[in-house]
Amino acid sequence: MTCSEFQNHFSDYHDSLGDPAFMVAASAHLDGCPECRRYRGEVEQGIEVLRSLPGPSVGDDFLPRLKHRIYHLEDGPALRRREMAGLGDHHDHGARDRGADRGGDLVPPQC
Ligand SMILES: [Zn+2]
Repeated sequence: MTCSEFQNHFSDYHDSLGDPAFMVAASAHLDGCPECRRYRGEVEQGIEVLRSLPGPSVGDDFLPRLKHRIYHLEDGPALRRREMAGLGDHHDHGARDRGADRGGDLVPPQC
């Protein structure tokens, strides 16, 4: 195993997700390679730093707004099919979606 192979697949090794032959080869490479041991140390240090950070803080309306965006993404292909068939344009799912509840936007409105 080369250093590039080890480092490119490091997360599989670190999370024990590689197949058994890969895990053995990666362990053997690590035992004989100070460079990759240093790489592992740096990645693990980075993981610790990330874990020690507080999670993101979002407003109370984040989840409903996220669901709305996902709804639009899932709705897009169906709407395009309807438009191509001449069956009208944008769907209408209530006045609240037309901007009435858009205080403190995290995502710009694109309805
Ligand atoms: Zn190496």
